Amino acid sequence: MTLMLNPIIERECLYGAKNYDPLPVVLVRGEGVNVWDDAGNCYIDMMSAYSAVSHGHCHPKLVRVLQEQATKLNIVSRAFYTDQLGLFLKRACELTGFEKALPMNTGAEAVETALKAARKWAYTVKGVVNNQAEIIACNGNFHGRTITIVGLSTEPQYRAGFGPFPAGIKVIPYGDAAELEKAITPNTAVFLVEPIQGEGGIIVPPTGYLKACAEICKKHNVLMICDEIQTGLGRTGKLLAYQHEGIQPDGVVLGKALGGGLLPVSLFLSRKEVMRVFTPGDHGSTFGGNPLAAVVGSAALEVLIDDKLMDRAEKLGSYFQKQLKQIHSKLIKEVRGKGLLIGLEMHEQYAAHDICLKLLKRGVLTKETHRTVIRFAPPLIITEEQIDLAVNALKQVLVETEQGQ
Ligand SMILES: *Cc1c(COP(=O)(O)O)cnc(C)c1O
Repeated sequence: MTLMLNPIIERECLYGAKNYDPLPVVLVRGEGVNVWDDAGNCYIDMMSAYSAVSHGHCHPKLVRVLQEQATKLNIVSRAFYTDQLGLFLKRACELTGFEKALPMNTGAEAVETALKAARKWAYTVKGVVNNQAEIIACNGNFHGRTITIVGLSTEPQYRAGFGPFPAGIKVIPYGDAAELEKAITPNTAVFLVEPIQGEGGIIVPPTGYLKACAEICKKHNVLMICDEIQTGLGRTGKLLAYQHEGIQPDGVVLGKALGGGLLPVSLFLSRKEVMRVFTPGDHGSTFGGNPLAAVVGSAALEVLIDDKLMDRAEKLGSYFQKQLKQIHSKLIKEVRGKGLLIGLEMHEQYAAHDICLKLLKRGVLTKETHRTVIRFAPPLIITEEQIDLAVNALKQVLVETEQGQ
């Protein structure tokens, strides 16, 4: 256990901006589902960096392709072609059923890309009057941290002090398709939606919601773009979470696990008709689509399919949820989620943060989302035995907390 007065922690706090409040542990190594701290203690990683480590830490195949490419060619910018980018984009398009892909680095950048594409599509294809295009997003959304994106947010802390925000944004309740239809006007460009709200507290909308939204968007000539940065790439038991409803939206945003737990790699994927709005010079990124990222992204997709990580997520996610639902504790209000994206909601009077601190002491790493929800989203390679270890630790922590310790 790392002590509070650890000089490593003190140094980070002294020189770092205070935009995070980490748990008091210093991690130095990771392998598969486990990470180790500076004192040699082993932990089960139930966060997997908000789904960025779905493949597990230091996946041997991904590390190998990264090392091999690192000795050949890494960064050249999109001013030139490389032998790797096309291979990555082809694989991503073929797997997801989209025609075109635009590479960026972080999730927020890919969301921005999607919104820029949608606005320009509205003006050049749909025929919306210049500067009138509207974006519709949902209450409780999380799409990243840029000024435009926090302009979509309904979380007061994410917005406070960062205005003014761009115009043309509307926010509607999540999970109610009728609200979407009410909010659409002739100027609506896009409906941006998470198939499950991750940061919002692992909120699973009613069955049929996405399907109904897809039909409404089609009827009104509005693009539906799913933000699958957290839910995508196997996390919920399917390659993409919207596939649970058998739909194909107009676009999708991928990130996090796309980098195989090694690098930031993101994509906006869509149909030709949408992607065509971008012409040379309209949009770009110095690092987006670099050959190192392309090789890692491509291998991350390959491993996902070869190792059937979505099937694991489904099977082990059901097992995990079943174990959690069998816990009898007056602290627990609800267990919810899909696949290995699971939220355990505590009753109001208990702070999920305290539970996370106690879990840390028992070798389980996770963090709360909102005040009362504990996230369980381990790497998709987790085993039943490792789930049992985490569930046992949780049971002990819950008993301890009930007894007021
Ligand atoms: C994490 C996340 C983002 C932002 O990704 P960054 O890489 O942190 O910019 C966007 N949307 C969703 C749903 C996310 O979970």
